[in-house]
Amino acid sequence: MTTRSSRARLVVAANRLPVRWDPDDRRWVSSPGGLVSALAPILRESEGVWIGWNGTAGGEAERLEVDGIDNLVVPLDEQEIEDHYDGFCNGTIWPLYHDAIRPPEFHRHWWRSHVAVNQRFADSVAEVASEKDIVWIHDYQLQLVPAMVREHLPRARIGFFLHIPFPPPEIFERIPWRRQILQGLLGADYLGFQTRRAALNFAAAAREFAGATGPASSLRHDDREIRAEPVPIAIDTAHYATTAADPEVRKLGADLRRDLGDPETIVLGVDRLDYTKGIDLRLRALEQVLDTHPQFLGKVSFVQIAVPSREDVDEYQEIRRQVEEMVGRVNGRFAEAGWIPVHYVYRSVPFEELIGAYSTADVMLVTPLRDGMNLVAKEYVATRLEDTGVLVLSEFAGAAEQLQEALIVNPYDLDALSDALARAVTMPPDEQRERMRRLRRKVARWDVHKWAQHNLDAIASRRES
Ligand code: UDP
Repeated sequence: MTTRSSRARLVVAANRLPVRWDPDDRRWVSSPGGLVSALAPILRESEGVWIGWNGTAGGEAERLEVDGIDNLVVPLDEQEIEDHYDGFCNGTIWPLYHDAIRPPEFHRHWWRSHVAVNQRFADSVAEVASEKDIVWIHDYQLQLVPAMVREHLPRARIGFFLHIPFPPPEIFERIPWRRQILQGLLGADYLGFQTRRAALNFAAAAREFAGATGPASSLRHDDREIRAEPVPIAIDTAHYATTAADPEVRKLGADLRRDLGDPETIVLGVDRLDYTKGIDLRLRALEQVLDTHPQFLGKVSFVQIAVPSREDVDEYQEIRRQVEEMVGRVNGRFAEAGWIPVHYVYRSVPFEELIGAYSTADVMLVTPLRDGMNLVAKEYVATRLEDTGVLVLSEFAGAAEQLQEALIVNPYDLDALSDALARAVTMPPDEQRERMRRLRRKVARWDVHKWAQHNLDAIASRRES
């Protein structure tokens, strides 16, 4: 029998802990999500620890046991939330890594705060992990942590997964701290990326700016071998399919259709309100389609669920203003008695309502200008139990690398986007079924459990050099 002291534990470090404060019950409760559902059983079984921030200012580095998961809080104060999180993470890295769609800002005081917070995460990992454990670090907020952990635990097996894109070197190179970031990441043994392109971009930058050598699959740096590969994140497909089959959820979908006045076609968009999601261009395409297809007037309804996000960051207030202005314009131009073209919802919706909306929507528009993966695309597919419905998918979403049977479009090409929307609305049921059947098979075969296991096996099987 393996004893606790002799076997490897899983130690996860991510910006956020999988918990939220329940103000009614006045206690921490688990907050669901694909990553959590994949990792929770492994964490429980290996008596592992999840290290992260709890989303509030201040507090202490305390342990929270929630639903059998051992959480270690990394506290951030107000100033760190402003400089490290809103500033460096969401004002520097986020736009830079998304093709610099908005100009990234570079501030030395943001960087200093970012280094301090990453060091706190690494110190927390070292507090709970030993060299025989598996440490899995997540995402763009913690890119310095792998090398910082290796300082503490030179022999530990360390993995990293980047949930967002990794930009091409000619965009990445702008950041004054490019060498430090690459050295941070190269502290890992195994780095997973959403797409082939992201893994290759990283390897190219590592060679150019950090002195690494070799191909992505076996980079050499500091006398160690590092493997970078695409391993696209997935969803808990079975959970989405089961929820979509629930009669109560189907009724929520039917209620939505009725509340919209029973239109012939429902077109749906579901996004955080972020400038990377292309909601503004999508509305322009819709306007063009309504201009050129008068037969759609009164028959096609577009529902846009826009989930509030990063409301303290200026660019997010600006994109919200733009989107809401366009919704007003399109509705003002085309609305008739008993029908308006755009139903705009600026809030997050409960899970069952979201699945109800997916399962009643005839067309799903996922048209980001750049997106690491885009889980919404996979979630829509997973809920299409009758193999009907059309997914319109941007070629700049990571999901497009797998979901080729969608209608793939360049979201910057207004004519192409309008054409794809019109084609989706009028696609014959046979073609819908043929495409959706293949999409569903893909989303069923590669789910979040396979994804997590693949990463953990790759981290655990480090080649010794
Ligand atoms: N989502 C949510 N609340 C909502 C609508 C959607 O939590 O009201 C979820 C959605 O189901 C998906 C996630 O938010 O799992 C969005 O993930 P995605 O990869 O599409 O984009 P991201 O927001 O991570 O950039």
